[in-house]
Amino acid sequence: MALAAERQPVLDVQAVRDLFPILEQRVHGKPLVYLDNAATTQRPRAVLDAMAEFYESYNANVHRGIYAFSEKASARYEEVRSKVQALIGAAAPEEIVFTRGTTEALNLVAQSWGRANLREGDEILVTEMEHHSNFVPWQMVAKETGARLRCARVTDEGRLDREDFRANLTGRTRIVALAHVSNVLGTINPVADLAREAHTRGAIVVVDGAQAAGHLPVDVRALGCDFYAFSAHKMYGPTGVGALYGRLDLLDAMEPTMGGGGMIGEVTLERTTWADVPHRFEAGTMPIAEVIALGAAVDFLLDLDRETIRAHEERLTSYALARLKSCRGVKVFGPPTTAGRAPVLSLASHDVHPHDLATVMDRDGVAVRAGHHCAQPLMRRLGVGATARASFALYNTTDEVDAFIRSLEHAEAFFRGS
Ligand code: PLP
Repeated sequence: MALAAERQPVLDVQAVRDLFPILEQRVHGKPLVYLDNAATTQRPRAVLDAMAEFYESYNANVHRGIYAFSEKASARYEEVRSKVQALIGAAAPEEIVFTRGTTEALNLVAQSWGRANLREGDEILVTEMEHHSNFVPWQMVAKETGARLRCARVTDEGRLDREDFRANLTGRTRIVALAHVSNVLGTINPVADLAREAHTRGAIVVVDGAQAAGHLPVDVRALGCDFYAFSAHKMYGPTGVGALYGRLDLLDAMEPTMGGGGMIGEVTLERTTWADVPHRFEAGTMPIAEVIALGAAVDFLLDLDRETIRAHEERLTSYALARLKSCRGVKVFGPPTTAGRAPVLSLASHDVHPHDLATVMDRDGVAVRAGHHCAQPLMRRLGVGATARASFALYNTTDEVDAFIRSLEHAEAFFRGS
């Protein structure tokens, strides 16, 4: 019994791969090795089918019609709210607002909660490892309100410097905004602990979950955060849709940032009242097919079990970290082991520019990303202009990690001229 309890769950990767039609593609005559999952993941057949089924068999606008298609579409759309609630452990479906993605969700909090609650001299605390999506909206609202943006440092190992975080958390901090997982370093931030510290100072906690939702079990109540944002396209769902979780009492007190159809209580010539939460924040025709397909992505993740997914991706990351150790002249950023690390690996070569690495790797069929990854403050901290980044998903294999390493060595040899 004890053995069974300790055994790590194993994912049937080949069976999973069979669910993703795009993985059969060849690129430049080579089998596709897709390692740009932090930018966007691929979609399983079930997600593609959910979108096609909507358009082919019950396409209608939601919340507006009293005919069968519209009622079915509305019911499916609202069901997804409950699915997302279950995925992230929210207390009620009303705590889930559909957005275009993480970026829009974070801007919504900044522009609504931020504008209403920030005063001159208040402080917003972010970290050096934030994606621009969790940096620029705070910079914008700070400028508008006279609040001050502070930034907690990252250690040389690529983790949040807890001492510096504490030093920057003051009695004036109103908002702490941080990534659950860094899209460059792979670092998993200890959100629950940080949220506890932030709350003792009276700040609210906004979490950018873009790189976590598809990889880690997420429970917003266990994390103790007040807002949590993520994008469907980074967790096997479609582009153009994502969600903002917000504590109901906070959402209830918030003003919408966009006016239009579907978000009103009553409109007169003089004034408008708002619809209840969450519809207040969903102005205009929403990406209905995409929301419904997000529901299929949530089913897919929950069916496979996120602990199992996490264990598989951790094995891949551990294997890749070990293999990279033997690559001469290659520096890997972020935590050195899988402890507190998600499946994102950024690296720099002593001899080869990241863009050149990515170009040569592409010729080998290996898709990695090169650039600043929308994290320029972090690039400055790391002392580089860009990195090459490989990021894994549940359909990747150790053979693909080997192909990545072979291709990396090939690129290094090519540019060294040996
Ligand atoms: N936050 C992080 C950590 C990300 O990695 C990304 C996308 O790469 C975003 C936010 C923005 O996500 P989206 O472009 O889907 O809004």
